[in-house]
Amino acid sequence: MRLELFLLVAVVLGAAGKPLSKAAARNKLLLISFDGFRWDYDQDVDTPNLDQLAVDGVKAKYLTPPMLTMTAPSHFTTITGRWVEDHNVVHNLMYNTTTNIKLPFKQTMGRSEWWDNGVLPLWITAQNQGLRTASFHYPGGGATYRGQAVDRALLEEFDHPDDNETEWRQNIDLVLSWFSEEDFDLVTLYYGEPDNVGHRKGPDHPDRKTIIEQIDRTIGYLRTGMDRHQLTHSLNVIITSDHGMTTVKKRPQVDEIILNDYIKLSSVSSFEILDYGGFGILEPKPGKEQEMVDALRKAPNLTVYRKNEMPESFHLGRSQRLPSVVVVADLGFNLNSRLILYINKGDHGFHSGEMDMKTIFRAFGPDFRKNLLFEPFDSIHIYPLMCKLLQIQPEAHNGSLAVTEDMLQLGGASHRASQSVLLLLLSMLLLLTML
Ligand SMILES: [Zn+2]
Repeated sequence: MRLELFLLVAVVLGAAGKPLSKAAARNKLLLISFDGFRWDYDQDVDTPNLDQLAVDGVKAKYLTPPMLTMTAPSHFTTITGRWVEDHNVVHNLMYNTTTNIKLPFKQTMGRSEWWDNGVLPLWITAQNQGLRTASFHYPGGGATYRGQAVDRALLEEFDHPDDNETEWRQNIDLVLSWFSEEDFDLVTLYYGEPDNVGHRKGPDHPDRKTIIEQIDRTIGYLRTGMDRHQLTHSLNVIITSDHGMTTVKKRPQVDEIILNDYIKLSSVSSFEILDYGGFGILEPKPGKEQEMVDALRKAPNLTVYRKNEMPESFHLGRSQRLPSVVVVADLGFNLNSRLILYINKGDHGFHSGEMDMKTIFRAFGPDFRKNLLFEPFDSIHIYPLMCKLLQIQPEAHNGSLAVTEDMLQLGGASHRASQSVLLLLLSMLLLLTML
């Protein structure tokens, strides 16, 4: 073989074996969460923009959230890739079993002691590797982690309206300008709907369909905005959510669960959060755990777990913060402590295996394949996918890139670049042999 030819073959083989991933441009990433978007909410509503997304990108049949199927725990699993027992944001309420303090969801947003338990969320990891990140109302974005804040974090006001479409569009405009004018690499954007309507009116109410139409229009607005900001070819977008929603079962269809009917709670428990969705937590008084568990196990439509006996699949048992006893109601049953509270017509917090608790995953952008219907997966696997897209080293996590990477173009943009180089070299080789 002629020397030139040999050298060229060596170069070609080298290029084939080593994709030019370092040289490829990194695309930006927008993660959007629409709280409480049940997996099938788009199936009885006209959603032209969501339908187009399925053609232009990836749609998972559904997404399984972690136990517990609640807003703060689930969002924090998505942004950390850690099970709830590891990141320890175990409830929407910030609580202390000793002082009995309980802070509502929105008040927890700036309270780093609730969020910062040793696990680093994606914003901080990305920043430590040279990227710029921002959080727009996303749960956990307002806290500091080992003293580090997210580069830019907007926190939801306490009286922030969930369903103002004009504001939704302004938020899109602002976030897109962060990407196009200020060169942010990662932004997480949170919307409080359709969760709010799902709770107040129930998932079967016409207003839920109306809000899904509004979400669909917002996605259309996002896509035209991406064109306007010239981001269509450099911004990947993941649209997901934290849990589903189910209709609360009421009398006379069902007998409600009132725990105090089975045991005098004040005599056995020193701390409890009940009357809050499909699950509850209790700390027994010293020596009272067995009595509590035995009594509550007599209640119908309820499963009682000692923390250290919970199924491994819950990934909750190792949590330092979770009290000793966890109760999970059957789907749709309200858990009431002493009296019937029916504030909500819809609720979540039930077992993540229930179809009504499943949620959505959609993705599109330069690194995603098109027209791909993806098999269901656990939300824990979104984290390594995001790290891959941002070309950063992930922290230790519980997800697996193997679950999600098939939704990427073969090896992503970097692989395509190396493919074209390879093609060029091969044609040169062919030309050379013909000489
Ligand atoms: Zn939620």
